[in-house]
Amino acid sequence: MGTKKIKKIAIYGKGGIGKSTTTSNISAALADSGYKVMQFGCDPKSDSTNTLRNGEYIPSVLELLRENRRLDAHQVIFQGYGGVYCVEAGGPQPGVGCAGRGIIAAVELLNQQNVFEELDLDYLIFDVLGDVVCGGFAVPVREGIAEHVFTVSSSDFMAIYAANNLFRGIQSYSNSGGALLGGVIANSINNEFQRQIIDDFVERTQTQVLEYVPRSLTVTQSELGGKTTIEASPRSEQAAIYRRLAQRIANHTESKVPAPLSPTELREWSASWASQLIAHEKSTQNAAYIQAAGVSHGD
Ligand code: ADP
Ligand code: MG
Repeated sequence: MGTKKIKKIAIYGKGGIGKSTTTSNISAALADSGYKVMQFGCDPKSDSTNTLRNGEYIPSVLELLRENRRLDAHQVIFQGYGGVYCVEAGGPQPGVGCAGRGIIAAVELLNQQNVFEELDLDYLIFDVLGDVVCGGFAVPVREGIAEHVFTVSSSDFMAIYAANNLFRGIQSYSNSGGALLGGVIANSINNEFQRQIIDDFVERTQTQVLEYVPRSLTVTQSELGGKTTIEASPRSEQAAIYRRLAQRIANHTESKVPAPLSPTELREWSASWASQLIAHEKSTQNAAYIQAAGVSHGD
């Protein structure tokens, strides 16, 4: 017990971008491969782990701490699909206090009672809301609680903007033993253009794409049934993609300091893509028009 090294990972990204969906599928896939996994939800909404538990929500650490100051750490851990240990840090009542506090309190509770070692974990995965500007959210990066950071991003500007901000945070903590960047999980990538945008962003910021995950109805259906895609639709193409992603994360060893863009660089970069996008739309509209005209001619 406690001899093997726990691989600690934090997954960040803009709200609604697909962090919890992706993280839960990674956890489920790793559990299927025989690993012991803990998924640690750090969103004040406490909705990270419910698809690992048939759609059921678990009480958060902050909630339980409010009821009982001398909480036994085992009371905040609930097992889900494949034996995955689920924890939700939780947040303060809306409008009161710092939202990052839940993360600090929850990590402290489990650390003090040596729960991470006791459970003999292979993977500890933090699912962290990345667009809130608050020190608490930097905790997994800052205090060396995680070693590798991955970010979920689509090709949308606001998602890339959040990823770039995260890169700046990682860069600033990198000298004091903070976590480094493993790469980008590109979510909702369904066409070549979206892929090119994200590829260009990772190249500019000196990182990499771990996997391109398409937006898929299989994910929606699974979620509506309260399950991950790995559980609900294990033979689907989407499940195969999540398994491949989990494998890449398992094999990943060398994280790096990213090279974030400055605000001006980011603006120029997005402007250059905006003009390319307009040119691309014009040409596809023209192509569609020519094709339609050609078809009617032929009739
Ligand atoms: P976050 O945790 O980043 O706030 P969620 O994981 O809760 O985001 O995802 C937000 C919504 O988007 C959910 O309804 C989820 O099912 C959906 N979603 C995320 N990724 C995909 C995908 N690849 N295909 C289809 N739906 C997705
Ligand atoms: Mg979430």
